[in-house]
Amino acid sequence: MRTDTGQVFKLEDYRSPNYRIPETRLAFDLQPEQTTVVSELVIERADDAPAGAPLVLDGDGLDLVALEINGEPLGANAYEATPDRLEIHALPKERSFRLKVTTRIDPSANQALMGLYRSSGVYTTQCEAEGFRRITYYLDRPDILSVYRVRLEADKATAPLLLSNGNPIEAGDLPSGRHFAVWDDPHPKPSYLFALVAGDLGVVTDEFVTMSGRKVALGIHVEKGKEPRAAYAMDALKRSMKWDEEVFGREYDLDVFNIVAVSDFNMGAMENKGLNIFNDKYVLADEETATDADFANIEAIIAHEYFHNWTGNRITCRDWFQLCLKEGLTVYRDHEFSADQRSRAVKRIAEVRTLKAHQFPEDQGPLAHPVRPRRYREINNFYTATVYEKGSEVVRMIRTILGADAFRAGMDLYFDRHDGDAATIEDFLAVFEEVSGRDLSQFALWYHQAGTPNVSVKASHNAATGELVLDIEQSSPPTPGESRKRLMHIPLAFGLVGPDGRDMVWETVEGAAVEHGVLHIRKRRHHVRFTGIAERPRLSLNRGFSAPVTLSVEEKPEDRAFLARHDGDLYSRWQALNGLMTDAVIEASKQLRDGRTASFAAEIPDLCGAIATDDRFEEAYRALALALPSEADVAREIGSNIDPDAILAARNGLIETIATANAAAFAALYDRLADHERFSPDAASAGRRSLRNVLLDYLAAGSGSPGRAAAQYRDAGNMTDRSAALAVLVMRHADSSETKAALADFETRFGSDPLVMDKWFQIQAAAPGAGALATVKALTEHPGFSIANPNRVRSLIGTFSSANQTGFHRADGEGYRFFAGIVLAVEQRNPQVAARLATGLRSWRSLEPRRKASAREALLRIAGTENLSPDLRDIVERTLA
Ligand SMILES: [Zn+2]
Repeated sequence: MRTDTGQVFKLEDYRSPNYRIPETRLAFDLQPEQTTVVSELVIERADDAPAGAPLVLDGDGLDLVALEINGEPLGANAYEATPDRLEIHALPKERSFRLKVTTRIDPSANQALMGLYRSSGVYTTQCEAEGFRRITYYLDRPDILSVYRVRLEADKATAPLLLSNGNPIEAGDLPSGRHFAVWDDPHPKPSYLFALVAGDLGVVTDEFVTMSGRKVALGIHVEKGKEPRAAYAMDALKRSMKWDEEVFGREYDLDVFNIVAVSDFNMGAMENKGLNIFNDKYVLADEETATDADFANIEAIIAHEYFHNWTGNRITCRDWFQLCLKEGLTVYRDHEFSADQRSRAVKRIAEVRTLKAHQFPEDQGPLAHPVRPRRYREINNFYTATVYEKGSEVVRMIRTILGADAFRAGMDLYFDRHDGDAATIEDFLAVFEEVSGRDLSQFALWYHQAGTPNVSVKASHNAATGELVLDIEQSSPPTPGESRKRLMHIPLAFGLVGPDGRDMVWETVEGAAVEHGVLHIRKRRHHVRFTGIAERPRLSLNRGFSAPVTLSVEEKPEDRAFLARHDGDLYSRWQALNGLMTDAVIEASKQLRDGRTASFAAEIPDLCGAIATDDRFEEAYRALALALPSEADVAREIGSNIDPDAILAARNGLIETIATANAAAFAALYDRLADHERFSPDAASAGRRSLRNVLLDYLAAGSGSPGRAAAQYRDAGNMTDRSAALAVLVMRHADSSETKAALADFETRFGSDPLVMDKWFQIQAAAPGAGALATVKALTEHPGFSIANPNRVRSLIGTFSSANQTGFHRADGEGYRFFAGIVLAVEQRNPQVAARLATGLRSWRSLEPRRKASAREALLRIAGTENLSPDLRDIVERTLA
């Protein structure tokens, strides 16, 4: 275990390395408890490095066995080795020499799941960000690009499969039941992209012919017996490869492409060159065991990791401050892929909901940081929604500002110019400036400045002169370490919606640049004047969520209702309705806190009834429109002095009001949407199921009876309908005998399938009410729960802390006390997962005083624990700061 030096890494301290490693040869003698790693490196002193510069290699918990330079063992005073560092002072005079390092590691004891570890009998690796140094001493930084040749040796009986990066070049049997394989990767890569897998797995194979006619052998390796559940992932992989050729002109570059699914994995998946390693949750799916959301996630994540082959692997990051260079860009690419495969408006709404649910709270709390951070203590804690999701939004804005053609030209130039480089955000922005001739220096603040900007808009219309004036002001709240903010370039897509519901056309506009329906805000204040506007329009602003900002518009409530009915932009129509719902829940929660009864205007139930049955819209869109903002969404909008109990009661009140007003229509539609055809995971079928399941929840809330949900559970032909029915039973009828029976039935059916049981834990962890904490505590004792497995911890504890606002934020603080205990227990094994979990308390300051005090106490307890890992210490100290 690394000890916490409290070291802060700063962007401005970046120095190019004194030594490079053009060639890396690795030999692994794989044994469960004692694996020997022989690393032979060609080391070159950089041209500009001082002659006597010592060579300092990174390590993490390593045991050095032998050390040679140019074939000669090194004397004891020629070097200094600790588990975390190897410094060699006595180096040859020549600029280039061969270093041979032998280390010994124990994959079975590795529960941090970083470096080389053994999970369910399979050897596997995770090296990003700094896991390679847990395998051997190395210059473990992304700007060291090396060509790798890897030899693996293992027992043939338990590990018939031996995989690494690149192409297979040699394999054979050895004495004593051992065998070997050699892999060669011709593309220089940083150490974080190294991977190996050795084990006994089932495989699904296929072939892809690239645009230049090369054949690529595809393999997806999964637990034996689960091969049929990898078919959808294979299909998604082939569609991804094709799409990247068609949309970005990117072709795959090796003879083989392998994906391996493992059940113990810290994150979603990892883009190692030619050998992607996945959390099995994002590979395995069939109708019996996976929901439509699982299918969509698999498609997106398979695509994401594949797309990294160009954005991340061929062009990598110069240093970890540039993480968004590969992640933000690749998330943008996978979003575009999913939008092309499914429905663009539906996909965009889902993206914005995710951004607001995960990134906005980050930007508005103690963990706020720029898309490209300037300092970190623990890089593992920067795999955040800001780097990924906001990073993607920034790329999207570049496309909005430049237009599709210039954006593509910029991407082509980026691939041409930087292939084989370790690049920076400056390199990325420069290509777009070059192809478009635009100055993006103000725009670049989106990478450098933390926080969500606010845009406020006031409109006045003069019917006599036909003038519309918009007074627009931008501001950015302070964030940790950044009290004064600079003015941003905000591209705001908009429309002026006329009384007939159509966009109005203006004669002239002055006061801000307006191009292709986008208003460019660059100054603190803009006084924008449109002429030729005869009637007062409704403002449809930030269409498609063109900029990740919070918007406050002075408008009449009926304007929003009008937009919710008539806006021609589907995203904005959704936004208008969702905004009305959010405001209604906020208002009702205030009434409840003041001891009054909650009341709701008839407008929202009317709108919901109209949109539910409007066949002009696809079902997936209608489902999103009917879905109320979550309790956490509402809490985020309130911002301070939050009382989760009042929000839950207000939200339930609105659901019941909508349900009662539309009972007959919703019931008829629910029946009409029943699936009679064979299951298909396609977008249209999934949309139909999602609308029907939203209606099921309304019908259960309105009727107070579990009958319909119990029947759907019983008759369900797929996991989407089954788990949705179970969730409705648990959320709306927790104590009914139908609910208890369904929970028991689910456990009997799927008890031996951990991925499906994750859903069972998750559904119960999200159920609100006084008994929530007791339920979750009891579930930690369930034989299917394991604190060592990240998926299980996330499904139970992660869901409880993020999706159970009333259970987690109990007024007596018991939820936080329990949570702190679990975080500390997870930390003993897996600091990375513990640190991620602990971010569940990041919004503690916005709670009402009593809860705030209890949450702080829980954070202080974690912070006061001895020998805390750097990962967890970093998160709790920043959260408390
Ligand atoms: Zn990624």
